[in-house]
Amino acid sequence: MVLETKQSKNVCVIGAGPAGIVTARELRREGHEVVVLEQKHDIGGQWLYDPNVEQEEDPLGRNPWLKVHSSIYQSLRLMSPREVMGFTDFPFLVKKDRDPRRFPSHTEFFLYLKDFCEWFKVTEIIKFNTKVLYVGPLNYGVSGQDLKWLVRSKENKSDDEVEQVFDAVVVATGHYSKPKLPSIQGMDTWRRKQIHSHIYRSPEPFRGEIVVVVGNSYSGQEISMELVKVVKELHLSAKSLDIYEGISKVISKYENCHLRPQIHNLQEDGSVVFTDGSSILADTILYCTGYSYSFPFLDTKGMVVVDDNRVGPLYEHTFPPSLAPSLSLVGIPRKILALRFFESQGKWIAQLLSGQKVLPSCEEMMKSIEEFYHSREVAGIPKHYTHDIGDFDYCDKYGENVGFPKLEDWRKELCVSSVVNYFINLETCRDSWHDDEKLQEALRNPYFTQLGLHLEDPSSKNLN
Ligand SMILES: Cc1cc2nc3c(=O)[nH]c(=O)nc-3n(C[C@H](O)[C@H](O)[C@H](O)COP(=O)(O)OP(=O)(O)OC[C@H]3O[C@@H](n4cnc5c(N)ncnc54)[C@H](O)[C@@H]3O)c2cc1C
Repeated sequence: MVLETKQSKNVCVIGAGPAGIVTARELRREGHEVVVLEQKHDIGGQWLYDPNVEQEEDPLGRNPWLKVHSSIYQSLRLMSPREVMGFTDFPFLVKKDRDPRRFPSHTEFFLYLKDFCEWFKVTEIIKFNTKVLYVGPLNYGVSGQDLKWLVRSKENKSDDEVEQVFDAVVVATGHYSKPKLPSIQGMDTWRRKQIHSHIYRSPEPFRGEIVVVVGNSYSGQEISMELVKVVKELHLSAKSLDIYEGISKVISKYENCHLRPQIHNLQEDGSVVFTDGSSILADTILYCTGYSYSFPFLDTKGMVVVDDNRVGPLYEHTFPPSLAPSLSLVGIPRKILALRFFESQGKWIAQLLSGQKVLPSCEEMMKSIEEFYHSREVAGIPKHYTHDIGDFDYCDKYGENVGFPKLEDWRKELCVSSVVNYFINLETCRDSWHDDEKLQEALRNPYFTQLGLHLEDPSSKNLN
């Protein structure tokens, strides 16, 4: 039943990354009382670059409670062009004395998120340096009572833990921090350097070394591209030798770069043996093998579990049926236009909590999840890709739950053309592109002038 008047709830958002800040804004707009608990000293999540990793973190990031959150490395530039990135009412514009590039540095995106927080006064509801240690339902199963949540947190410089009770909790803690590691024979006894891309920051420490990069997805390709210029030899170990044109061009260009199959085993003398029988003596193995979902603070009494990188059961990747809407998870999907999707998630959660929208029954939500799992199975998609969406239509359909605007055609087209450019021209795609015409058309859209701010044309930076 939809309520005529809006209910105001006392809501805790965990995490002040892109997902947490936009959700907090939506919740407050809907009239809720909101506090955001953030373990770091500033907003930004992944985009709050952290250079101090080596002494802080286990090189393979094997602890359940990581000290370092951000996996962003020094030279990182956005993969998606700035014009497709922004929230619906806050375009990612070029600003005076900032990085004007179409694919700017991570710092530029961080500054955009800072601007967003200032503009919408989100910063004032964030409690920084506060790590959430425990979240659990307080009165689960007590009939006639609305579910409440106990949140235990600790300020970084204090030993005291603080307990608070909330009507609802939104988990927005991200999923690009906890390393996913392969299981390779000899990995535990190999004595040389093994690190995960989570703590890789720059190529300099590897100068003159023989390095094996494991994994040729985004991080593997990008990090290889900068390592190859300083290392003695770079061996890129891939699951399949059938690789994209962009990385293939890089391998042909640099004589010290070699494509290898998967590692078969690691030997105590420092040898790395590949599945085709070839072997090399390496100084370092750098695992660019992706990240796992991890919620070490979350106690749902088994009602939400992570199984082979599937977080479930979650209705529409957001709501655990038996605990929703008082518990929700924002930012779980991958391969989406992140900011826009997070915004629609935040809106839906806010309206569910205020009683302006209602979810289907628990049974119906479970049925929908089962159907979704089944459809993925039939399509041959492995479980660990459950949350890989890669589908504009899904985002539009999701938004319909709260009348959220559909993705504009120009946004979709620019997204696709930049992805294609990435896979074909990996090394040059951020400085040279072929979709200027579409870009010019897009920049005339009122979306970019809605704030009445200065707009420069990022296409003038095309080196093509
Ligand atoms: C190398 C790399 C490159 C990327 N490039 C792009 C790109 O080009 N374009 C793009 O759209 N996306 C990119 N991404 C994805 C990026 O992660 C998302 O854009 C976005 O940051 C996800 O936002 P989030 O808020 O869900 O999570 P995060 O940004 O990870 O934020 C989560 C927040 O939760 C806080 N937190 C976690 N646990 C706790 C706790 N227990 N208590 C309190 N606070 C906690 C963290 O400190 C953090 O501030 C990239 C990611 C990586 C790793």
